[in-house]
Amino acid sequence: MSAESRVLIENVHIAPVVGPEIESGYIRIEGDRIVELGAGAAPGTSAGASAGASAGTVLIDGTGCLATPGLVNTHHHLYQWASQGLAQDATLFEWLVALYQVWAAMDAEVVHGAATAGLGWLALSGCTTSSDHHYVFPKGRGDLLAAEIEAAREVGIRFHPARGSMDRGESQGGLPPDVVVEELDDILAATAEAVDAYHDPSPSSMLRVAVAPCSPFSASADLMTESAALARDKGVRLHTHIAETLDEDEHCVAQFGLRPVDYMEKLGWLGPDVWFAHTVHLSDSDIGKLADTGTGSAHCPSSNGRLGAGIARVSEMLRRGANVGLGVDGSASSELTPLAGEMRQALLFQRARYGPGALTARQALELATLGGARNLGRAAELGSIEPGKLADLALWRVDGPFTAAVADPVCALVFGPPPPLARVLVGGRSVVEDGELRTVAQDAAGRAGVAARQRLLRLAEERGVSAAEEVHRSAGR
Ligand SMILES: [Zn+2]
Repeated sequence: MSAESRVLIENVHIAPVVGPEIESGYIRIEGDRIVELGAGAAPGTSAGASAGASAGTVLIDGTGCLATPGLVNTHHHLYQWASQGLAQDATLFEWLVALYQVWAAMDAEVVHGAATAGLGWLALSGCTTSSDHHYVFPKGRGDLLAAEIEAAREVGIRFHPARGSMDRGESQGGLPPDVVVEELDDILAATAEAVDAYHDPSPSSMLRVAVAPCSPFSASADLMTESAALARDKGVRLHTHIAETLDEDEHCVAQFGLRPVDYMEKLGWLGPDVWFAHTVHLSDSDIGKLADTGTGSAHCPSSNGRLGAGIARVSEMLRRGANVGLGVDGSASSELTPLAGEMRQALLFQRARYGPGALTARQALELATLGGARNLGRAAELGSIEPGKLADLALWRVDGPFTAAVADPVCALVFGPPPPLARVLVGGRSVVEDGELRTVAQDAAGRAGVAARQRLLRLAEERGVSAAEEVHRSAGR
């Protein structure tokens, strides 16, 4: 299916993120780009009737809808769709230790099914671009990166897979068992290969690859510095987890004599080409370093809440000028979290910590759109509704019998549960229409996720790992 060549959305409330909101207006799309937006009827049309629209233009009546930029997800682990609902009451480290052995059994079929369901689910919550941090590559289990890339092409959203890695197993003082880590040289070769094979730097790119050692407690200092050198040589971005929990803080101080952000600074990992997941436990000095170096953060409030990690200092980071985007994090630490729901969660967490002035609905929308685009190095093309940007849009239906009671549609979108989606467009192409996936069969995508889960648990059992025992596993409970 090719992008529709001309699309005109009419009678729609537009929250462009950059520039003034328009209560009732139009958005004109040509090819994969937004070419024009404005109040009232589009030039060349009669108000409300579209009589003058040129032949071949697809008309979308946006009456009762709010148009926002498509949401950008900047942290995820799609494979975890297949291991949801386990270790429900665990801390991060307990949860990881419980699940590493299950994940060691995954293969390409599991990853494809999990990614199909996970990316479909994201599209159904208004997401048009997603990153994915895949860092478990057990030997002999097929091409896992290719499997998720294939799923992203099928679902039709922009994809920024981050080739993750772990080389610091238990025997090296790390957290993961040795069975799920790789050798440094193998990681660097496979990562370079992934960039060469898949990374598309063009402005309309549907796929860009990032380099992403997993975390300070599972990646060696050599892997971190070599990865940074590789990414900078290839001109791609860097991503990792940092400052997620106090356990990690203690680990870093004990092992490296530095807290996480200082350790990253020492390794050359601060800069405008880097974005971190979480950044929950930051000092004032840490926040200053992120802001001054242009290092981004992916805020994942549902996962942080689920694992009891803490509440990130997002409103203080924004005031200091640090960039923040949103992430759903892996489905095994946030389960069925929709990306749109993370706007609400971010708003509520910040207000619970700092008071009602901490984050507005429009700031939350900016985190989910332009903040995310900046994290992925795509602020010139994504994250706002402006002429020249890619036509990645979400049309939220805010005229339902209950949502219509909220006068401000941006308030309805952010303060409440995600409203239904009339459309999700990626480069002008419909991925979701009337709340249904249009690129892949929705029921089949959901079933692929269930089959991936069943397959993963069966493969794990064949290796003597029973996931059923892990539901409530946690120390002392
Ligand atoms: Zn994560």
